[in-house]
Amino acid sequence: MAMERSEVEIVKPRNDKREYRRIVLPNSLEVCLISDPDTDKAAASMNVDVGSFCDPEGLEGLAHFLEHMLFYASEKYPVEDSYSKFIAEHGGTTNAFTSSENTNFFFDVNADCLEEALDRFAQFFIKPLMSADATIREIKAVDSEHQKNLLTDIWRMNQLEKHLSSKDHPYHKFSTGSWETLEVRPKAKGLDTRLELLKFYESNYSANLMQLVVYAKENLDVIQSLVESKFVAVNNISRNPFDFSGEPCSSEHLQILVKAVPIKDCHKLKIFWPITPGMHHYKEGPCGYLSHLIGHEGEGSLFSVLKELGWAISLGAGEEERSYAFSFFSTIIELTDAGQDHIEETVGLLFKYIKLLQDSGVQKWIFDELVAIREIGFHYKDKSRPIHYALDVALNMQLYPPEDWLVGSSVPSKFAPDTIQKILNELTSSNVRIFCQSNKFEGCTNLTEPWYGTHFAVEKLDTMTLEKWVAKAPAVNLSLPKANVFIPTDLSLKNFQEKVRYPRMLRKSAFSRLWYKPDTSFLTPKAHIIIDFNCPESKHSPEASVLTEMFTRLVMDYLNEYAYDADVAGLSYSIKHTDTGFEIICVGYNHKMRILLDMIISKIDDFDVRPDRFSVIKESLQKEYENYKFWPPYQQAMYYCSLLLQEISWPCNEELEVLQHLEPNHLLQFTPRLLGKTHLECYISGNIEPKEAESTVEHIEEVLFKSSKSLSKPLFPSQHATKRIVKLQDGLRYYHAVEGSNPNDENSSIVNYIQVHQDDIKMNVKLQLLALVAKQPAFHQLRSVEQLGYIALLMQRNDHGVHGLQFIIQSTVKDPSHLDARVNAFLGTFESTLYAMSDDEFKSNVNALIDLKLEKHKNLREEAAFFWKEIYNGTLLFDRKESEVAALRELKKEELVEFFNSHVKFDAPQRRNLSVQVYGGLHLMEYKHAIDNLPPGSCQITDIFSFKRSRPLYGSFKGGIGHMKL
Ligand SMILES: [Zn+2]
Repeated sequence: MAMERSEVEIVKPRNDKREYRRIVLPNSLEVCLISDPDTDKAAASMNVDVGSFCDPEGLEGLAHFLEHMLFYASEKYPVEDSYSKFIAEHGGTTNAFTSSENTNFFFDVNADCLEEALDRFAQFFIKPLMSADATIREIKAVDSEHQKNLLTDIWRMNQLEKHLSSKDHPYHKFSTGSWETLEVRPKAKGLDTRLELLKFYESNYSANLMQLVVYAKENLDVIQSLVESKFVAVNNISRNPFDFSGEPCSSEHLQILVKAVPIKDCHKLKIFWPITPGMHHYKEGPCGYLSHLIGHEGEGSLFSVLKELGWAISLGAGEEERSYAFSFFSTIIELTDAGQDHIEETVGLLFKYIKLLQDSGVQKWIFDELVAIREIGFHYKDKSRPIHYALDVALNMQLYPPEDWLVGSSVPSKFAPDTIQKILNELTSSNVRIFCQSNKFEGCTNLTEPWYGTHFAVEKLDTMTLEKWVAKAPAVNLSLPKANVFIPTDLSLKNFQEKVRYPRMLRKSAFSRLWYKPDTSFLTPKAHIIIDFNCPESKHSPEASVLTEMFTRLVMDYLNEYAYDADVAGLSYSIKHTDTGFEIICVGYNHKMRILLDMIISKIDDFDVRPDRFSVIKESLQKEYENYKFWPPYQQAMYYCSLLLQEISWPCNEELEVLQHLEPNHLLQFTPRLLGKTHLECYISGNIEPKEAESTVEHIEEVLFKSSKSLSKPLFPSQHATKRIVKLQDGLRYYHAVEGSNPNDENSSIVNYIQVHQDDIKMNVKLQLLALVAKQPAFHQLRSVEQLGYIALLMQRNDHGVHGLQFIIQSTVKDPSHLDARVNAFLGTFESTLYAMSDDEFKSNVNALIDLKLEKHKNLREEAAFFWKEIYNGTLLFDRKESEVAALRELKKEELVEFFNSHVKFDAPQRRNLSVQVYGGLHLMEYKHAIDNLPPGSCQITDIFSFKRSRPLYGSFKGGIGHMKL
């Protein structure tokens, strides 16, 4: 077969043992082959240089709709949904998305099953079947996706920006599509959407505009012949690439201030400029340089100044598009209430900072520092899941020459001050666009964006006005950052003699326990540290819970300027409120991790309440609680489900109520109680010697417990806080019906939960296998066939070691009681599917699950998450995977059927079922009916807390026989 094999060498990370090859098939399809003998998963990603910008006039969303349709069936595999079913049953996942200038399809699958998966996947691009019946059903899925986006501010603001741009640039268009754009309007014009769809596919999907990545465990020659045989039939019409160059904004769209009303209560200020796309200079990295400085959070930075003024909660800066055609550079600032009253000064300060950059000139040392960080980042990048890796590379293939397919723009290699200066010169007051969203604009707008209905107003600005804003900005000390001391210089690997598979307890004292696991698999100069504070005081009341949250946020707030450099240098941390206290996590290069961790501990130790910061944090937390009512209904249903199942958890409305009355002195009095009695569970893993791990914990004990001014004392054995789960009753169907919290949201939702058992190897594997077998049929039936809604899925659920299944559906089509009925009907038909399953099919599903379990951790972070879960839950089954694989090998089909019949089937005697029903704006009549009319055999929960008090609990794993001892 004639084929081009390129001689170019693809630049790869120093430690990357995988092999790469570029080939071009005779039909001009460009392919990147990746061979990774260590991989458990194979993956592929096809990038097509056709996106929503290519939508024909009057058929908005057609490219996106086509993306949906290709999943249905092909001439070679005509059974609807058989592609997704095959992938799901062989341990994989599939997805796709449509962007402005491209559409991407991708999947992964157990490494042994690549050939058939690839054959099915290739048919998307060879001979798809788009039946009339499927077309009409799937337009509904696209519409449901739009319904889901409709009340989401990100989508609304994004469209508003497009709306205020030139009508003749494709940027202006609505991209995702709806029933209106794909059915109603085309019909009115006499168009047949399906014919248009076929026409669009045939005239645009051409092999010369596609880039394919295949990631597999075989060697390159084998992958190559596999790819040749599957993809050579992809049609090539040598279509000219699309060209979208041209400015999306003409002068009327520049120098504008747009005031928009968001759904959620927030104030966001976005200041942006059309710029020369960074892609034109990607080796010089001008936008990376500028975003590093404008987005900096250290001392003297714009953010640090805005924070000190009490105006900003967060700030981000950078280039928005990755395109050769056009681009924007933006700065997005989340404002406080006070900041909202000073928009003009805030914009003025940004221009002052830009002026500072102009005056200081481009600094070589800053560029060099950035390059050093980015280079380390590239060479020591964690391995990611093959599906994500394949996707990233495929996206890069559209943009970069082959040698840069892996590195992309991530490591600039040429210092070009003129180029940086050129982009900096484009950030001027004459071409700025300022979009501000705030509920304070309610009632002050005169315009409505047509697709999402966002209310807004536009004011034209001029250079003089903007100069005035700069003049009235407060006089503050803005400066360039200092040299970053957190850049790791010691990247050497510790020499661990033998392979260590599991963590072990390295140290135990009255104050703490240290679990330790050296890295003998990933061989990177990184570490992962978790320090979990078990603080019984944190969960006594809604007040205690909110104060613990305030405490963690304030500590992070105080550390922000100091730790920002660490974050830039690949060393990050977080302090999170947990169910039993709070935890510190440090992740990244180990070289300077200790310095950062010691600083965090000292901030905790001399914690003080700064009233100005207290009120800023309180305000933003309060908004988060208040915005709860705008959560999508499926998230509300999930929230209620957790509230019903967890022994102790405080409802949002109670927490909001107490928060409103909190003052700094409450926190001042609370913190000594919070820290006064605590126990530390520590996990240290990675490129760290046992001695260093021990000394890290010794130091923490020294500071927190042992010095003369130490606050903390160890816990009494009676005090350890644990987490327990409510046990539902056998054979009973509970339901809890509520009205959605936002009456304008037309979506309804259910979480239909089936509680099965507490952690037990044999039961676990039955549940997992059932979920694996049922997942795809559930999705196919509930979403593709019945079109109940875009979100319609079945998944496993694990609450602190209590396992079950849950169906999650969000719908405008049907009300929750109907959705429940459809779930039960699905289980009815699934029963016969299960009975009809052949022994071979059963075996193949078992093997797929075994393969999934034997999958190795990709990186330290994944490994730490796995072991930490065992420690945190108290189950301590570090060899869980091996035990479950052994149990799976023993499992018989009859046992699975028996499991289904006794725990999952609709009328099963041991079935424990809870349905949380959230009734949206379209279904309020049905809500009244649901609370007054009890379906037979079910029990309505009207009072969540009385219900919880009346139920027994599952035991905690912390303390039971064979479990962790406290
Ligand atoms: Zn979609």
